[in-house]
Parts: sequence; C-alpha cells; structure tokens
Amino acid sequence: MANHPIPPDETRWDSFDLLTERNRTILRGILEKVSVDDPQRTPIDQKIGDFYASCMDEAAIDKLGAAPLQPDLDRINALSSKPGIADLIAPLHLHGVNALFNFSSGPDFKNSMLVIGQADQGGLGLPDRDYYFKDDAKSVELRKQYVEHVQKMLELLGEPAGKAGSDAQAVMKFETGLAKGSLELVARRDPSQTYHKLTVHELFSLCPVIDWPKYFQGLGTPAFTDLNIAVPNFFRTVESMLVQTSLDDIKTYLRWQLIHSEAALLSKPFVDENFHFFREILAGAKEIQPRWKRCVTAVDNDLGFALGRKYAEVAFGPEQKARTLKMVEEIEIAMKSDIQTLSWMSPVTKEQALLKLRAVTNKIGYPDHWRDYSSVKIVRGDMVGDDERATEFETHRVLNKIGKPTDRGEWLMTPPAVDAYYDPTQNNINFPAGILQPPFYDKSIDDAVNYGAIGSVAGHELTHGFDDEGRQFDPEGNLRDWWTAEDAKEFEKRAECFVQEYSKFEPVDNVHLNGKLTLGENTADNGGVRLAFMALMESLNGKPRPKIDGLTPEQRFFLGWGQIWCQNIRPETSRMLVQVDPHSPGRNRVNAVVSNMPEFQRAYACRIGQPMVAAPACRVW
Ligand SMILES: [Zn+2]
Repeated sequence: MANHPIPPDETRWDSFDLLTERNRTILRGILEKVSVDDPQRTPIDQKIGDFYASCMDEAAIDKLGAAPLQPDLDRINALSSKPGIADLIAPLHLHGVNALFNFSSGPDFKNSMLVIGQADQGGLGLPDRDYYFKDDAKSVELRKQYVEHVQKMLELLGEPAGKAGSDAQAVMKFETGLAKGSLELVARRDPSQTYHKLTVHELFSLCPVIDWPKYFQGLGTPAFTDLNIAVPNFFRTVESMLVQTSLDDIKTYLRWQLIHSEAALLSKPFVDENFHFFREILAGAKEIQPRWKRCVTAVDNDLGFALGRKYAEVAFGPEQKARTLKMVEEIEIAMKSDIQTLSWMSPVTKEQALLKLRAVTNKIGYPDHWRDYSSVKIVRGDMVGDDERATEFETHRVLNKIGKPTDRGEWLMTPPAVDAYYDPTQNNINFPAGILQPPFYDKSIDDAVNYGAIGSVAGHELTHGFDDEGRQFDPEGNLRDWWTAEDAKEFEKRAECFVQEYSKFEPVDNVHLNGKLTLGENTADNGGVRLAFMALMESLNGKPRPKIDGLTPEQRFFLGWGQIWCQNIRPETSRMLVQVDPHSPGRNRVNAVVSNMPEFQRAYACRIGQPMVAAPACRVW
C-alpha cells in the first residue's frame, strides 16, 4: 500500500485500477493510430478514430461552449403545457439524459426468454435516493454543495446568479420529491420488489399527465401491450410531482438534467465544474484525469464493442480463453461436490440446485458476434453530435428488443472491462478479456496464485447464481422458487450470519458497512474462494507440491486472493461506496472471507482467539 499511493487524478488505487490503467493505455495506442485522418481506414477505424479525435480536440470544443446543446435547450424552452412533456422527454431519453424516469428493455423475470419494456425510477442527480434524506452533518453539507453546483451549472448556461440560485433550489425540491417515491437500494435487491408486470393502460393510469403513446412513438419502440413497471409507486410520484410543480420549474429541472448529462463533453468551464462536484467533492480526487483518459472512456462508453474488438485482437488469445474455460469448469465441478456434501440442504433441493448448476453457461473474453455500428454516423469535430448519435443508436438498439427473444450471446460489459458478472435471468457467467490478465490471471506464475485470484473471481460469479438474489431464479433464468420452505429457512439463517458479520465493519469513521446491501457479494466472495480452493486441491491431487518463495500452495492461494484486493482509497470515495456499492471494501473482502475459512487457518497456523479466526465462522456455500 505504501508503494502505491493514489495518483492525484484517481479516487482509488488497487489491482483493478492498475489493470484498468494498463488496458486504457492499450486502448489509447489503438485510438491514436486510427485517429489519424486517413481515407484508407476501415469503417470501424474511422468511427472510433474520429470519435476519439473529436473528443481530443479541446480547442474546438472550448470554442463552442454550450452551443451544441441549443436544439435540446430550445425544445425545453418551447414547452408550453404539461401534456407537451411526452414529446420532450422522448428525444432527451434518446440522448441519454436522465430525465424523470428510466425506460429500457430487459428479460421478463418470469419468462426470461422474452424481452419486455422496463419502466423504472430515475431522474436524480445525486448517486442515490438516500442522499436526499440523510441528516448527518456530512450529508447536509453535501446537499448544500450540490445545490451550489446546480446553481453554477445554470449560471454557466447564462442565467443571472440570483435566478440560478432559486432555480437550483427548485431542482433540489423536485429531485427530493422523486427520491421520496424511489425504492431503497436494499429493497431493490429483492427481485419481487422490482417486478410488476402490468399493462400499458395501467401505466397510463399511474401517471396520466404523461401522454405515454406519444412518448413511445417519440422513442420509436415496437408496439407492446404489457411491460414491467419496476416501482409503480415511483410513477405515482412522477405524476404528483409534475402536477404540483410549475411549468417553469419543470423546465429548469430538465435544463439541469440536460446540462448535467452532457457536461463532460462541453467546454472547459462545464468540465471543470462537473469535475469539482462529482469527482472532487463526492469522491476526493485531487486533479482531473488527463484528457486522453477521459476520451478513451468516452469511446468505450459509446462505441465499446467496436473498440473492444480491436482490444481483444491485441490482448487476448485462444490460449487464454482455453485455460480460463478449463479453470471455470473445474470450479463448477467443485461446486457440484460442495452442493452434494452440504449438511443443511435436503436431497430434493440439492437435486434442483444441481440442475441449475449444470445449466450455467460460461462466456469468456468477448462476444461471438460483434455489434454492427455501421449506421452510426461519426463526424470528426462534432463531439456532442457524435455522442448523441451513438447514444441514440444504442437506445434504439435496446428498445428494439422489446417483444423479441432474449439474445443470450449479448454482453453487458465491453471486452476491456476489468470486471465480470453473473446474469441471473440468463444463468450465465461472463468474463471480459480485460480481467483475464495479470495479476488476476498470469500464465507465468504457479496455479495456486491464479486459483486464488481469477479462480476466486470465477467462483464468486458462479456463487452469485446461488446467493440470496440469484437463488430465486431457476435454471432457465426465471424467477421461480425451487426451494423447500425448510431449506430456504436454513439458507436465510446462514446468510444472516454474513449480515451480522459484515455490518460490524467500519470502512470510514462512524460509518458501518451495510450487511444487507452487501449480502449477495459477500456470499459470493465466501463461496467463491472456497470453490476455487477446492478446485486447486483437486488439481494438485497426487502431484508434487514444492514450496515457492518459502510458501506452500495453500499459502500462495490465499496470497493470490489478498493481492487482487490490495487497495488504497480516498475517504470520500469510501464514504460514497458504503452507501451505494453492494461490494464490501477490499480489506473486508479479504479478511472476512479468510477468517471464515478453516482452510486458511490451517494454511497459516492461526489459533482460536486470533483476529483471523471468526467466531462464529459464517458459511452458506
Ligand atoms: Zn459479484
């Protein structure tokens, strides 16, 4: 930790960030090469190259100020009645503006092979609804700073200070209203609380002030008769907020959300003020990231599978794919034996669990089919236009899936992502090429370390299929209870042990970790490390076990796990993550897991009563 101080432009510095930085440097190399204006470039190179060039051309961007937003600003200013809102929200949503609510598509939880429309809460500027209500001194201060930030942004748009000040108050009032109708993060982890399949007519009656047919027409969605209204009460809230708020204040709120959404693409004053609140105050960064970093991220956000395709070509080969797949399969075998030998689960539920395990599919590296961006027009020198067209393409792509079968080959992360995920509605685990690199996976190092690192990540994702959330979905990815009541009770009893254990941690002064918010991730960590350890033991069976650097394979396994979570983090970021991140901080991820494991205690000869021996030791899987 002493050797890895947080760079001034970063808010956290750990193995994930170091690898992200390395991947970003590879992407920069790719983008610098293809951003040279050359008519011989392939169409894909033209798009990612010119997008990057548009983003890097700071002088041109600075000259324009907020002018690129004028068409959207004009539309907002022209709003003359509340029924006109539908016509206005649709184009804003197509441009990715977080106005009022969120409308997207996703698998029907109870019929996961079908994609349906998904209407959900949204429309807030702060990271989570709780930020609007917490009354500790830090939270109160933060809300004051947020209002100041909104005011400054409106001033940058040309409002006089006095008017911008009262407008910022109006924005705060409006967002607080929306936050009141929003569901808490912990409640959102329960799929039944965000699944309400209703007819479109029910949406009309929850929120009649929005002309929904007009809105859907504006978005260009396929026709549909029912959809998931994730949080019905939120749409009642949108209705009451729109009815009780003056047209002028609604317009102010929409102007703010527009400028907030596009700030990073505008001239320096907007970029700096946006950085000041969201990275400096909220997350503790000391400096803004250099432009190239921000521009690489922008291309990854907007044209991620075009850039990611090139990344996969240079950074990921069939050998890495084969070795990862082999390890994942070994971990799946470990889970099979874990389930078979569990003491607390009845044979009936075990049979169902094994069926689900057998149905898990593994996706490694990058998609089999690449996204076709040929219809996206990227114009060198038109930063905001490029972003709007790419975002519009993506929004249409997502909405066009409504009424169609789920595409299980699709990826939710781009190939350079240093991350992985389990998708409960598809029952698959996904490992982007970006994480299958040192120190997570290093072909030059012994298996023990690799199993402790990437093996534990694989075990983690697999265990998500069986955590408090994932266990509610069946082998086909449908929300269906396959547990006996007795076994479910046994599961919950064991999960509660984790809730208690992790709630004791205090990552920032006087702020405790939320054991309920982090339960799924903690369950996945504990199960994942155990499964990876079992797989390693199985693979070493009958083989020589030389010590390396004086350490046994068991010891090196746990070092592998510890090393991926080495972490320096700014207190501001830590404070934010405790509130919104379902993952525990690195230190707790490591220490809690190993203190629950007799295998660790044997490897390092720990004795009862020592800090790395939890009492009680928690275990689900
Ligand atoms: Zn996870």
